[in-house]
Amino acid sequence: MTMWRIGLALMLAVVPVVPAPAVAAAPSLLEVDRRLAGIAWRLTTANAALCRDTQPVTGATLHAIDQYPAEVAAGGQYAAPVMVELVLPDTPAARAGLAENDGLLAVAGTPVPAPEATGTVTSATRNAAQALIAVRPVAAPLPLTIRRGVGAAARTITVAPVPGCRVEFEVLAGNKLGASSDGQVVQVGGRLFELFDDDQIAVVVAHELGHAVLRHRARLEAAGVRWGVLSEFGRNGRLFRETETEADLMGAYLLRNAGWDPRIAVTFWREQGGKIDGGLFRSRTHPSSAARAAAIERELATMPADAPTPYVPPLLERRDAPLR
Ligand SMILES: [Zn+2]
Repeated sequence: MTMWRIGLALMLAVVPVVPAPAVAAAPSLLEVDRRLAGIAWRLTTANAALCRDTQPVTGATLHAIDQYPAEVAAGGQYAAPVMVELVLPDTPAARAGLAENDGLLAVAGTPVPAPEATGTVTSATRNAAQALIAVRPVAAPLPLTIRRGVGAAARTITVAPVPGCRVEFEVLAGNKLGASSDGQVVQVGGRLFELFDDDQIAVVVAHELGHAVLRHRARLEAAGVRWGVLSEFGRNGRLFRETETEADLMGAYLLRNAGWDPRIAVTFWREQGGKIDGGLFRSRTHPSSAARAAAIERELATMPADAPTPYVPPLLERRDAPLR
Protein backbone atom coordinates (compact mmCIF):
# COMPACT_ATOMS: atom_id res chain seq x y z
CA MET A 1 0.00 0.00 0.00
CA THR A 2 1.32 3.42 -0.89
CA MET A 3 1.57 6.74 0.90
CA TRP A 4 -2.17 7.28 0.80
CA ARG A 5 -3.04 6.78 4.37
CA ILE A 6 -4.42 9.71 6.23
CA GLY A 7 -4.41 10.00 9.98
CA LEU A 8 -7.09 11.50 12.14
CA ALA A 9 -4.87 14.28 13.43
CA LEU A 10 -4.68 15.91 10.04
CA MET A 11 -7.35 17.94 11.72
CA LEU A 12 -5.40 18.29 14.95
CA ALA A 13 -2.05 19.15 13.43
CA VAL A 14 -0.61 22.40 14.66
CA VAL A 15 2.79 22.19 13.01
CA PRO A 16 3.40 24.10 9.78
CA VAL A 17 3.56 22.14 6.55
CA VAL A 18 6.83 22.32 4.64
CA PRO A 19 7.01 21.78 0.88
CA ALA A 20 8.97 18.65 0.00
CA PRO A 21 12.01 18.90 -2.28
CA ALA A 22 12.37 16.13 -4.87
CA VAL A 23 13.56 12.90 -3.26
CA ALA A 24 15.20 10.11 -5.24
CA ALA A 25 13.65 7.13 -3.52
CA ALA A 26 11.15 7.79 -0.77
CA PRO A 27 10.82 4.89 1.66
CA SER A 28 7.60 2.89 1.45
CA LEU A 29 4.93 3.41 4.06
CA LEU A 30 5.52 -0.08 5.43
CA GLU A 31 9.25 0.59 5.82
CA VAL A 32 8.53 3.85 7.58
CA ASP A 33 5.89 2.27 9.82
CA ARG A 34 8.38 -0.45 10.74
CA ARG A 35 11.04 2.09 11.71
CA LEU A 36 8.61 4.09 13.84
CA ALA A 37 7.19 0.94 15.47
CA GLY A 38 10.69 -0.20 16.45
CA ILE A 39 11.52 3.15 18.04
CA ALA A 40 8.14 3.33 19.79
CA TRP A 41 8.51 -0.23 21.10
CA ARG A 42 11.82 0.63 22.76
CA LEU A 43 10.64 3.91 24.25
CA THR A 44 7.21 2.84 25.50
CA THR A 45 8.27 -0.45 27.08
CA ALA A 46 11.49 0.81 28.68
CA ASN A 47 9.62 3.74 30.23
CA ALA A 48 6.46 1.98 31.41
CA ALA A 49 7.39 2.79 35.02
CA LEU A 50 7.21 6.51 34.19
CA CYS A 51 3.78 6.34 32.57
CA ARG A 52 0.64 6.60 34.67
CA ASP A 53 -1.45 5.17 31.85
CA THR A 54 -0.15 1.85 30.58
CA GLN A 55 -1.37 -0.84 28.19
CA PRO A 56 -0.32 -4.33 27.09
CA VAL A 57 2.24 -4.01 24.29
CA THR A 58 2.74 -6.88 21.85
CA GLY A 59 5.21 -5.67 19.23
CA ALA A 60 2.60 -5.98 16.47
CA THR A 61 1.06 -3.04 14.62
CA LEU A 62 -2.50 -3.12 13.28
CA HIS A 63 -4.08 -1.41 10.32
CA ALA A 64 -7.52 -1.50 8.74
CA ILE A 65 -8.73 -1.36 5.15
CA ASP A 66 -10.67 1.87 5.68
CA GLN A 67 -7.44 3.70 6.45
CA TYR A 68 -6.84 3.56 2.71
CA PRO A 69 -8.84 5.02 -0.18
CA ALA A 70 -11.33 2.53 -1.63
CA GLU A 71 -9.43 2.21 -4.92
CA VAL A 72 -6.28 1.22 -3.03
CA ALA A 73 -8.07 -1.18 -0.69
CA ALA A 74 -9.93 -2.77 -3.62
CA GLY A 75 -6.63 -3.87 -5.15
CA GLY A 76 -6.00 -6.57 -2.59
CA GLN A 77 -7.46 -9.59 -0.86
CA TYR A 78 -7.71 -9.41 2.89
CA ALA A 79 -8.18 -12.00 5.58
CA ALA A 80 -10.26 -9.50 7.60
CA PRO A 81 -10.90 -5.73 7.66
CA VAL A 82 -8.40 -5.28 10.51
CA MET A 83 -5.02 -6.89 9.95
CA VAL A 84 -1.59 -7.20 11.45
CA GLU A 85 0.49 -4.71 9.48
CA LEU A 86 3.86 -5.70 10.93
CA VAL A 87 5.43 -7.77 13.69
CA LEU A 88 8.68 -6.54 15.21
CA PRO A 89 11.31 -9.27 15.69
CA ASP A 90 12.02 -10.54 19.19
CA THR A 91 8.76 -9.24 20.67
CA PRO A 92 5.85 -11.06 22.37
CA ALA A 93 3.86 -11.05 19.11
CA ALA A 94 6.74 -12.61 17.19
CA ARG A 95 7.35 -15.22 19.88
CA ALA A 96 3.65 -16.18 19.90
CA GLY A 97 3.71 -16.69 16.12
CA LEU A 98 1.55 -13.75 15.07
CA ALA A 99 2.26 -12.92 11.42
CA GLU A 100 1.93 -9.99 9.09
CA ASN A 101 -1.38 -9.95 7.20
CA ASP A 102 -3.13 -12.07 9.83
CA GLY A 103 -6.73 -10.86 10.01
CA LEU A 104 -7.76 -9.89 13.55
CA LEU A 105 -11.24 -11.14 14.41
CA ALA A 106 -11.47 -10.81 18.19
CA VAL A 107 -9.49 -9.72 21.26
CA ALA A 108 -10.00 -11.88 24.35
CA GLY A 109 -13.30 -13.07 22.87
CA THR A 110 -14.63 -9.59 22.03
CA PRO A 111 -15.21 -9.24 18.28
CA VAL A 112 -13.30 -6.48 16.52
CA PRO A 113 -15.84 -3.90 15.26
CA ALA A 114 -16.43 -3.93 11.50
CA PRO A 115 -15.72 -0.77 9.46
CA GLU A 116 -18.66 1.53 8.95
CA ALA A 117 -19.50 1.83 5.27
CA THR A 118 -19.06 5.59 5.13
CA GLY A 119 -16.73 5.62 2.14
CA THR A 120 -14.35 7.99 3.95
CA VAL A 121 -10.76 7.30 4.90
CA THR A 122 -10.63 6.88 8.67
CA SER A 123 -8.52 5.43 11.45
CA ALA A 124 -11.63 4.71 13.53
CA THR A 125 -11.78 0.96 12.85
CA ARG A 126 -8.08 0.47 13.58
CA ASN A 127 -8.38 2.62 16.72
CA ALA A 128 -11.36 0.57 17.96
CA ALA A 129 -9.33 -2.64 17.59
CA GLN A 130 -6.37 -1.08 19.41
CA ALA A 131 -8.71 0.06 22.18
CA LEU A 132 -9.83 -3.55 22.80
CA ILE A 133 -6.20 -4.43 23.49
CA ALA A 134 -5.44 -1.26 25.49
CA VAL A 135 -8.08 -1.99 28.15
CA ARG A 136 -6.76 -5.49 28.87
CA PRO A 137 -4.55 -6.11 31.95
CA VAL A 138 -0.99 -5.12 31.05
CA ALA A 139 0.69 -8.41 31.84
CA ALA A 140 -2.10 -10.98 31.40
CA PRO A 141 -2.11 -13.48 28.53
CA LEU A 142 -3.80 -11.84 25.54
CA PRO A 143 -5.81 -14.24 23.34
CA LEU A 144 -6.15 -12.96 19.77
CA THR A 145 -8.53 -14.67 17.38
CA ILE A 146 -7.04 -14.45 13.91
CA ARG A 147 -7.53 -15.70 10.37
CA ARG A 148 -4.43 -16.47 8.33
CA GLY A 149 -5.35 -16.17 4.69
CA VAL A 150 -8.61 -15.36 2.92
CA GLY A 151 -11.32 -17.82 3.92
CA ALA A 152 -9.11 -19.71 6.38
CA ALA A 153 -10.55 -21.01 9.64
CA ALA A 154 -10.33 -18.83 12.72
CA ARG A 155 -7.71 -19.76 15.30
CA THR A 156 -6.48 -18.27 18.56
CA ILE A 157 -2.95 -17.11 19.25
CA THR A 158 -2.18 -16.13 22.83
CA VAL A 159 0.40 -13.40 23.23
CA ALA A 160 2.24 -12.69 26.51
CA PRO A 161 2.41 -8.88 26.35
CA VAL A 162 4.61 -6.52 28.32
CA PRO A 163 3.51 -3.25 29.93
CA GLY A 164 4.10 -0.08 27.95
CA CYS A 165 3.04 3.54 27.99
CA ARG A 166 -0.50 3.96 26.70
CA VAL A 167 0.37 6.07 23.69
CA GLU A 168 -0.06 5.16 20.04
CA PHE A 169 2.35 6.33 17.37
CA GLU A 170 1.60 6.59 13.69
CA VAL A 171 3.17 7.98 10.57
CA LEU A 172 1.33 10.85 8.99
CA ALA A 173 1.64 10.38 5.25
CA GLY A 174 2.45 13.37 3.12
CA ASN A 175 4.97 16.15 3.33
CA LYS A 176 4.60 17.10 6.94
CA LEU A 177 7.95 17.61 8.62
CA GLY A 178 6.98 17.47 12.23
CA ALA A 179 5.25 15.64 14.97
CA SER A 180 2.20 16.40 17.03
CA SER A 181 0.14 14.77 19.70
CA ASP A 182 -3.34 14.98 21.10
CA GLY A 183 -2.22 13.13 24.23
CA GLN A 184 -3.10 9.63 22.99
CA VAL A 185 -2.00 9.43 19.37
CA VAL A 186 1.39 10.80 18.39
CA GLN A 187 1.70 11.50 14.68
CA VAL A 188 5.12 11.66 13.12
CA GLY A 189 5.47 13.24 9.70
CA GLY A 190 6.59 10.82 7.00
CA ARG A 191 9.14 13.33 5.68
CA LEU A 192 11.23 12.94 8.84
CA PHE A 193 12.08 9.40 7.75
CA GLU A 194 13.63 10.68 4.55
CA LEU A 195 15.77 13.27 6.34
CA PHE A 196 16.83 11.59 9.56
CA ASP A 197 18.20 8.29 10.80
CA ASP A 198 16.48 6.26 13.50
CA ASP A 199 18.48 7.75 16.38
CA GLN A 200 17.51 11.24 15.28
CA ILE A 201 13.87 10.27 14.89
CA ALA A 202 14.01 8.71 18.35
CA VAL A 203 14.78 12.20 19.71
CA VAL A 204 11.58 13.53 18.15
CA VAL A 205 9.50 10.53 19.27
CA ALA A 206 10.90 10.75 22.82
CA HIS A 207 9.98 14.45 22.94
CA GLU A 208 6.40 13.55 21.99
CA LEU A 209 6.29 10.73 24.53
CA GLY A 210 7.59 13.29 27.05
CA HIS A 211 4.44 15.35 26.46
CA ALA A 212 2.31 12.29 27.26
CA VAL A 213 4.34 11.28 30.33
CA LEU A 214 4.00 14.81 31.73
CA ARG A 215 0.27 14.92 30.89
CA HIS A 216 0.64 18.16 28.99
CA ARG A 217 -2.64 18.00 27.10
CA ALA A 218 -4.65 17.58 30.30
CA ARG A 219 -2.62 20.20 32.17
CA LEU A 220 -2.93 22.75 29.37
CA GLU A 221 -6.67 22.14 29.15
CA ALA A 222 -6.98 22.51 32.93
CA ALA A 223 -5.15 25.82 32.63
CA GLY A 224 -7.73 27.01 30.10
CA VAL A 225 -5.23 27.26 27.27
CA ARG A 226 -6.61 27.76 23.76
CA TRP A 227 -5.33 26.14 20.59
CA GLY A 228 -5.38 27.81 17.20
CA VAL A 229 -5.24 31.41 16.06
CA LEU A 230 -3.44 33.76 18.47
CA SER A 231 -2.67 30.84 20.78
CA GLU A 232 1.04 31.68 20.55
CA PHE A 233 0.74 34.94 22.44
CA GLY A 234 0.62 36.01 26.07
CA ARG A 235 0.06 33.48 28.82
CA ASN A 236 -1.03 30.86 26.30
CA GLY A 237 2.28 31.09 24.46
CA ARG A 238 4.28 31.07 27.66
CA LEU A 239 2.58 27.88 28.86
CA PHE A 240 3.14 26.19 25.48
CA ARG A 241 6.84 27.06 25.64
CA GLU A 242 7.02 25.77 29.21
CA THR A 243 5.56 22.41 28.19
CA GLU A 244 7.86 22.21 25.15
CA THR A 245 10.90 22.62 27.36
CA GLU A 246 9.58 20.06 29.84
CA ALA A 247 9.05 17.58 26.96
CA ASP A 248 12.60 18.16 25.71
CA LEU A 249 14.08 17.47 29.14
CA MET A 250 11.89 14.43 29.81
CA GLY A 251 12.56 13.14 26.30
CA ALA A 252 16.29 12.91 27.05
CA TYR A 253 15.60 10.71 30.08
CA LEU A 254 13.20 8.54 28.07
CA LEU A 255 15.93 8.00 25.47
CA ARG A 256 18.42 7.11 28.17
CA ASN A 257 16.06 4.59 29.80
CA ALA A 258 15.53 2.94 26.41
CA GLY A 259 19.25 2.42 25.87
CA TRP A 260 20.19 5.45 23.80
CA ASP A 261 22.91 7.88 24.80
CA PRO A 262 20.72 10.81 25.90
CA ARG A 263 23.27 13.27 24.56
CA ILE A 264 21.96 12.47 21.06
CA ALA A 265 19.16 14.90 21.94
CA VAL A 266 21.69 17.68 22.55
CA THR A 267 23.49 16.88 19.32
CA PHE A 268 20.24 16.67 17.39
CA TRP A 269 19.01 20.11 18.35
CA ARG A 270 22.45 21.63 17.96
CA GLU A 271 23.30 20.16 14.56
CA GLN A 272 19.92 19.59 12.93
CA GLY A 273 18.37 22.72 14.38
CA GLY A 274 18.79 24.72 11.18
CA LYS A 275 16.97 22.08 9.18
CA ILE A 276 14.24 21.98 11.74
CA ASP A 277 13.76 25.61 12.64
CA GLY A 278 12.36 26.15 9.16
CA GLY A 279 9.68 23.53 9.63
CA LEU A 280 9.42 21.21 12.57
CA PHE A 281 8.28 23.11 15.63
CA ARG A 282 8.67 26.48 13.93
CA SER A 283 6.59 28.88 15.91
CA ARG A 284 6.71 31.21 18.85
CA THR A 285 5.60 28.33 21.05
CA HIS A 286 8.96 26.56 20.72
CA PRO A 287 12.34 27.80 21.98
CA SER A 288 15.21 28.08 19.49
CA SER A 289 17.14 24.90 18.74
CA ALA A 290 20.30 26.24 20.40
CA ALA A 291 18.36 27.01 23.58
CA ARG A 292 16.80 23.56 23.54
CA ALA A 293 20.20 21.89 23.23
CA ALA A 294 21.60 23.94 26.11
CA ALA A 295 18.63 23.24 28.37
CA ILE A 296 18.85 19.48 27.78
CA GLU A 297 22.59 19.54 28.48
CA ARG A 298 22.01 21.34 31.80
CA GLU A 299 19.26 18.90 32.77
CA LEU A 300 21.34 15.80 32.01
CA ALA A 301 24.13 17.16 34.21
CA THR A 302 21.76 16.76 37.20
CA MET A 303 21.40 13.00 36.64
CA PRO A 304 23.50 10.95 39.10
CA ALA A 305 26.33 9.03 37.42
CA ASP A 306 25.05 5.80 38.96
CA ALA A 307 21.38 6.40 38.14
CA PRO A 308 19.39 3.15 37.87
CA THR A 309 17.49 2.08 34.76
CA PRO A 310 14.79 3.11 34.41
CA TYR A 311 15.73 6.41 36.02
CA VAL A 312 12.73 8.31 37.38
CA PRO A 313 13.82 11.97 37.34
CA PRO A 314 12.46 14.59 39.79
CA LEU A 315 11.00 16.24 36.69
CA LEU A 316 8.30 13.54 36.66
CA GLU A 317 6.62 15.20 39.66
CA ARG A 318 5.58 18.04 37.38
CA ARG A 319 2.94 15.83 35.77
CA ASP A 320 0.63 16.72 38.65
CA ALA A 321 1.63 20.38 38.92
CA PRO A 322 -0.92 22.91 37.62
CA LEU A 323 0.32 25.18 34.82
CA ARG A 324 -0.05 28.82 35.85
ZN1 LIG B 1 6.37 19.39 21.58
